[in-house]
Formats: sequence, structure tokens, C-alpha cells
Amino acid sequence: MVNFLIFGPPGSGKGTQSVRLAEKFNLLHLSTGDMLRAEITAGTELGKKMSLIMSKGELVPDEVVIEMIAYKIDNSKGSFGFLFDGFPRTVAQTVSLEKMLNDRGMKIDKMLVLDVDHDELVKRLIARAELSGRPDDKDPAVIENRIEVYKEKTEPIIQYCNQKGIYQPVNGMGTINDIFKRLSDYMKKLI
Ligand code: ADP
Repeated sequence: MVNFLIFGPPGSGKGTQSVRLAEKFNLLHLSTGDMLRAEITAGTELGKKMSLIMSKGELVPDEVVIEMIAYKIDNSKGSFGFLFDGFPRTVAQTVSLEKMLNDRGMKIDKMLVLDVDHDELVKRLIARAELSGRPDDKDPAVIENRIEVYKEKTEPIIQYCNQKGIYQPVNGMGTINDIFKRLSDYMKKLI
């Protein structure tokens, strides 16, 4: 098994690239954002509780996403590895993920971080709002808050992973195909 984190601020293209990379390398794409939105769509109690937090651009509690991921890790078979998208988002989530993987004889093999200019992020999120109908993409103040939350709570994971020697920055500017090629080239080195 080879396990990757795809990482970067909101709008950096993690979701778009993950779907394609998972298919190319036979990885299981695990997106906590998608899982949470599925709870909201299904109208579950958890979904109802989380939707307010998400609509403000804040993070849901660590234990909620950790539990979701643990369930998926234990109930998925047949892939070559995992591609974690939008998880972990705090250092605490990272430590939990490492423990979950270590307990099962695995590790985080590489963290691929998409670097994208701030103005480009905002532009992409506003454009996405038109297509996705995601409420957290529509409001510029919520977009700015998500980028702030990323800087404050999520970015410190980069330093944590850098110390472990698994950090790999990737240029996230350009066309979807260009970025896909760059990410694929890094993944190929490990697969
Ligand atoms: P984006 O990367 O574009 O912000 P996501 O789909 O990954 O979008 O996440 C949407 C929202 O779901 C986040 O703003 C946050 O509220 C919540 N969320 C997703 N993943 C996590 C996580 N690992 N920890 C906490 N909150 C999360």
C-alpha cells in the first residue's frame, strides 16, 4: 500500500486532481468534505449539526472526521493505497491518521502540496460556486475565512510532515492537465 495526502488551500484543486489520480493509480480517494456533504444531503443528525459549521467556513470537530476516516480505512479493500483529500486539516488529525495507519502496518508515504496564488484561489472558488452550488463557495467573506482557517490550523501540518521527510511542494498554477502531469510524476516515483 502507498498512501498519499493531497494538500493545499481551498480552491487549490485537490478534489479535481484527486478523482483523476485515484483512477490512474488505483487509489481509494477519501475526501472528508465529500463525506460531510453526503451526510448533509442524506439529512442525518450529524449532517444537520455539521452544516452550520461548514457554511461559516470553520472546521468540524476533529473526532467527527477521524471517526469517518477510521471507518473507511477498515471497510475498504482492493485499492493500491489511499489518497486523502481535505484530511488531515489539523496537526491533531495528522497524529491520529499516522496512528491509525501505523497500527495497520502502513504510513503516510508522501504529502503533495499544491501551491496556488491567493487571487487565483478566490477566482476559482467563485467560479466553482456557479457550478457546484456549494453555499461555502458563494460568499466572499466565507471564502476568506476558509483561507484564514487553512493558514492558521492546517498549514502547520506542512512543517510537521517536512520534519518527517514526506513533504513535496507542487506548482498548482496552470491548466488542470499540467498540474495532473506534475502530480502524477511525483506519484510514479513511489508506485
Ligand atoms: P475545500 O477544500 O474546498 O475547503 P472541502 O470539501 O475539503 O472543501 O471541505 C468543505 C468543508 O468541510 C470545510 O470548510 C470544513 O468545514 C469541513 N471539513 C472537511 N474536511 C474537514 C476536516 N478534515 N476537518 C475539519 N473540517 C473539515
